[in-house]
Amino acid sequence: GTHIALAGLGKRFGNTTAVDALTTDLLPGAFAALLGPSGCGKSTTLAMIAGLIDPDAGDIRFDGLSILTVAAERRPVGLVFQKPLLFPHLNVADNVAFGLRMRRLDRAATRRRVDTMLERVQLADLAHRRVGELSGGQEQRVALARALVLEPQVLLLDEPFSQLDATLRAEMRTLLRQLHDESDVTTVFVTHDQAEAVEIADTITLLIDGRLAGQGEPQLFYTRP
Ligand code: ADP
Ligand code: ADP
Repeated sequence: GTHIALAGLGKRFGNTTAVDALTTDLLPGAFAALLGPSGCGKSTTLAMIAGLIDPDAGDIRFDGLSILTVAAERRPVGLVFQKPLLFPHLNVADNVAFGLRMRRLDRAATRRRVDTMLERVQLADLAHRRVGELSGGQEQRVALARALVLEPQVLLLDEPFSQLDATLRAEMRTLLRQLHDESDVTTVFVTHDQAEAVEIADTITLLIDGRLAGQGEPQLFYTRP
């Protein structure tokens, strides 16, 4: 896994300070939840790590090296959003293969990696299904596979399961933990749901009003339902 360091990270939108002097470390292989109420700066922080938004203060380092000058499409990160954002005209396997084809990996190797990845997310049977015909949970499995097949150093997820019902959410949490534990990819999981953060993460980073309001193991954040 990769060590992520956020150092004095800041972002303003006009008069709104979305992220304010955020300094924190996520250890190699961590499964970290970025927790806090709506509007506290979680998505902005994730988008800065991904390279989708430029910070106006501070630095982001992967294993000690600043990534701020690395363009989004070259950052070694996998991204999963609340909406799966799949390519609707492609089938499951072609959605997962897309990034590998962009990298001009040869056909045999692409096929091998896609097949292995589909097994890992339990979608091997649906490889040739059009993604328009999938359920919400299946769509998010494709999104996870598409992100992980590129073997990113860092996996970034923004409320990935919040559109699923409670049973599916629990299933997807188990699957994501398993995928993380197999690959040891440093994972940042954005959620506003404290119970979900406690359930899935090894470490929780709490943001309030763009500022670091606490960090530690999930037990520290557990409140009796
Ligand atoms: P969260 O993900 O925790 O809900 P966000 O990072 O989306 O929070 O937003 C943090 C703050 O920044 C909020 O006040 C939000 O309204 C504001 N914000 C986010 N993106 C923009 C933008 N593109 N333009 C203006 N304000 C924004
Ligand atoms: P999330 O709940 O994931 O933060 P939102 O629905 O708040 O998502 O925001 C969706 C998009 O709108 C994001 O790209 C965010 O940066 C942008 N955004 C959020 N708040 C504002 C705002 N106050 N003004 C302009 N854009 C915003």
